[in-house]
Amino acid sequence: AAKNSGRNRFAWFDLSMERELQARNDLEVGLRHAIPRAEIVPYFEQQIDLTTGRLSGFEVLARWDHPTRGLVAPDAFIPIAEETGMIADLSLSIMRQAFVAAKDWDAALSLSVNISPWQLKDAWLAQKIIKVLTETGFPASRLEIEITETALFDNLALAQSTVGSLKNQGIRLALDDFGTGYSSLAHLRALPFDQIKIDKSFIMSMGENSESAAIVTAITRLGDSLSLPITAEGIENASIEERLRALGCAKGQGYLYGRPTSIMNTRRLLAERRLLAVTVVEAVETAE
Ligand code: C2E
Ligand code: MG
Ligand code: MG
Ligand code: MG
Repeated sequence: AAKNSGRNRFAWFDLSMERELQARNDLEVGLRHAIPRAEIVPYFEQQIDLTTGRLSGFEVLARWDHPTRGLVAPDAFIPIAEETGMIADLSLSIMRQAFVAAKDWDAALSLSVNISPWQLKDAWLAQKIIKVLTETGFPASRLEIEITETALFDNLALAQSTVGSLKNQGIRLALDDFGTGYSSLAHLRALPFDQIKIDKSFIMSMGENSESAAIVTAITRLGDSLSLPITAEGIENASIEERLRALGCAKGQGYLYGRPTSIMNTRRLLAERRLLAVTVVEAVETAE
């Protein structure tokens, strides 16, 4: 095979490119139907208060419950949704489902939802989110919105006004994946963040890699100086958790506490810990 002629190799590349385009096109066509059919569903990842060890809430992560492909990860469809403008509907659908599910959960539990930077260009975003909150009865004070740094500030004035409207409602704001991509300390001043999330790549490698550990330490000190609580994502073992607690990280999430899971499994987990409203606990128990 290594001795393929140039011509054959070109033919091979053409074919693989064509297959890739076809696969992407299939996903795009499928995605248009998937949103109204509610095949895009929220999964929930536990967030832990590292000082008390208690569950503080969940990050909401999109999954495509695809009729033939099984569960599709967001990296495979969020970029397509962004390029085609479908992200706005997708995002509101995820929020609606998550708010409906979580409104009976313990009132101390928060939800963090991810927003694409692209969505901040929609001058009506805040109104749309507030409408979903009102319709579902989920309190704004229990909602946090995560924004990644990437290209955050294309249109800074518009992003600031959108974020201002969200914050006026009591919604909190987190800077996601800090330390990666178009990372800049200036971003921290551009929008009124309430929380910094250290990217999981640093957390997952800080055990073996002293540079990662130094970066994590520096970010926690920065959080201290700016009075911004730090969340560490990607905690996979107890020794990393212990180091982060010692560094003063406020919150943690990662596979140590559990994989992101469905609404149904999350309800079970909360029922076991007596973190559902009484009537809901009874309903779950009688269903078993
Ligand atoms: P993210 O917001 O930084 O989410 C964290 C990702 O890290 C999740 O992947 C989560 O499953 C994974 N993760 C958490 N703990 C661990 C760990 O201990 N080890 C490892 N190896 N991974 C861990 P996921 O669910 O595949 O999401 C990927 C990205 O997709 C998210 O990164 C977020 O940027 C984006 N995304 C997910 N849902 C949405 C959504 O509804 N809207 C938008 N705009 N983006 C979303
Ligand atoms: Mg996130
Ligand atoms: Mg993140
Ligand atoms: Mg990410």
